[in-house]
Amino acid sequence: MSTDEIKRSGDGTEKIDSLNGENKNFIELEIDKDLAEGRYDHVQTRFPPEPNGYLHIGHAKSILLNYGLAKEYGGKFNLRFDDTNPTKEKSEFVESIKEDVKWLGADYEDRLFFASNYFDQMYEIALKLIRKGKAYVSDLTAEEMREYRGTLTEPGKNDPMRDRSVEENLQLFQEMKDGKYADGEKTLRAKIDMTSSNINMRDPIIYRVAHLTHQNTGDKWCIYPMYDFAHPIEDAIEGITHSICTLEFEDHRPLYDWVVREAEFPQPPRQIEFAKLYLKNVVTGKRYIKRLVEDGIVDGWDDPRLVSISGLRRRGYTPSSIKKFVEMAGVSKSQAVNDYAALEYCIREDLKPSCSRMLAVLNPLKLVIDNYPEGQSEELEAPNNLENEALGSRKLTFSRELWIEREDFMAEPVPKYKRLYPGNEVRLMYAYFVKCVSYETDDAGNVTVVHCTYDPQTKSGSGFEGRKVKGTIHWVNAQDAVQLPVRLYENIIDEEKGVYNEDGSLNLNPNSLTTVQAWCEPALKEAKAYDRFQFVRNGFFCADSKDSKDGAPVFNRIVSLKSSFKLPKK
Ligand code: ATP
Ligand code: MG
Repeated sequence: MSTDEIKRSGDGTEKIDSLNGENKNFIELEIDKDLAEGRYDHVQTRFPPEPNGYLHIGHAKSILLNYGLAKEYGGKFNLRFDDTNPTKEKSEFVESIKEDVKWLGADYEDRLFFASNYFDQMYEIALKLIRKGKAYVSDLTAEEMREYRGTLTEPGKNDPMRDRSVEENLQLFQEMKDGKYADGEKTLRAKIDMTSSNINMRDPIIYRVAHLTHQNTGDKWCIYPMYDFAHPIEDAIEGITHSICTLEFEDHRPLYDWVVREAEFPQPPRQIEFAKLYLKNVVTGKRYIKRLVEDGIVDGWDDPRLVSISGLRRRGYTPSSIKKFVEMAGVSKSQAVNDYAALEYCIREDLKPSCSRMLAVLNPLKLVIDNYPEGQSEELEAPNNLENEALGSRKLTFSRELWIEREDFMAEPVPKYKRLYPGNEVRLMYAYFVKCVSYETDDAGNVTVVHCTYDPQTKSGSGFEGRKVKGTIHWVNAQDAVQLPVRLYENIIDEEKGVYNEDGSLNLNPNSLTTVQAWCEPALKEAKAYDRFQFVRNGFFCADSKDSKDGAPVFNRIVSLKSSFKLPKK
């Protein structure tokens, strides 16, 4: 499916099962080849997060890609926590990751795994490598290791202990495991080639001593496998066929292949790399999001200003909008930059037909209809969404005093201004034509009240054709409107200045969050967490899932209605 062919179904809940369409991406072409050549007879993929933070939009791409490929080829998709690095706070991250993956619709069924479950097998494989003369225990310190490694232009030097006997290596590795050595005192290295042009192949460390308590395995181990050794083994044990990762691992692929070959797995997985999703002027890296959270700049990992998956969820994004976005971004080997505006486009398209269009005034100014009798009120019918009749209609009350947007009145109108100004007539949405007759100001000259007269003949839906007006504005009835907090967001980064300062700190936008007290039609008071609405002319809004005000909702603006985003041409 190309970007300009994206179609949507009425309720916005359609499933996107793959990130592709008629034009297969390069990964699918590789898979097709593997299946045709009989290298594999099925497809099995996985998403392997490290539980050291919350997931973000980049991870969503990886999740949906891996899950989509499994679905497309009738295969299976695993969720595996890459917990080879003992860290704290793990269970919170594990739980949030599970929730996010499920929310995106990537169903791993009963295939939830932990790399730490394979520590015994990894240890056995390390022994096997030692016995094959393919691994040895090194005494080099980290600093010596660096000196021996060489550089991009110079080959490395052999480790003085490289030719230790198998027996000695087995004994020393046993002693490493038994806790005889301090952290960093000994390592186990793969015996590959210190002169390789690929530094990753210069006898990489595969086990290190680390006296750390692991969340899953407790104190059972004081040696832990390194990522480049552990990851291919995890894949192979789970029967993964295509191990899809991002480009920074391209240079590690020879090592990946070396590990699965030397470990003698009968049907080794293969690694395929694609370019990371990168959003222009948006903080995506886990490390940076973590910093914003820890520095208290945002309200946790799910702050609606973040592109963490939980932040996007809380902001009001839907899984299908995120799927559409990653689909539009495509899968490629070359690094591209994506616009946040494209993500906004996707959520707008998703919500346009599915949300009710409600009235809320974010920046209120009082409007008084001088010729509307005091104490009188009437009910008006308002369709919930003209694009989607199934959403029905609702009743609004109308009376003499209303709230309108401050921007919808100008005492001295600028050229082409079509809204209210002295002497001008506009339509009040779903109601009547009103004409501005005067206005009041306070001592500072600020407009405090706008006075109008209305024409009873012009009631909406009455078929009145006597004259036309150029502007239509929205309003709420002051008598029954409810005041609710509404949060308006801007990029947390000052886009003019770019994401990072010279010292590596983030260029924060001080105006990334503004809370206004909006006057809303009464029905909005009943909104429940995650209920989404269009507030006419003001954007799409979602009832916050964490905060409320005296039992009434707090709304987050998901996205405004206007867009600068254009769908790319084919
Ligand atoms: P970060 O770069 O934010 O620190 P990470 O790569 O360290 O993330 P992991 O938990 O190691 O996070 O990643 C899990 C999987 O998600 C990996 O396969 C990784 O390649 C993939 N991934 C991470 N960031 C992106 C991204 N921006 N686009 C696509 N895939 C990504
Ligand atoms: Mg990582």
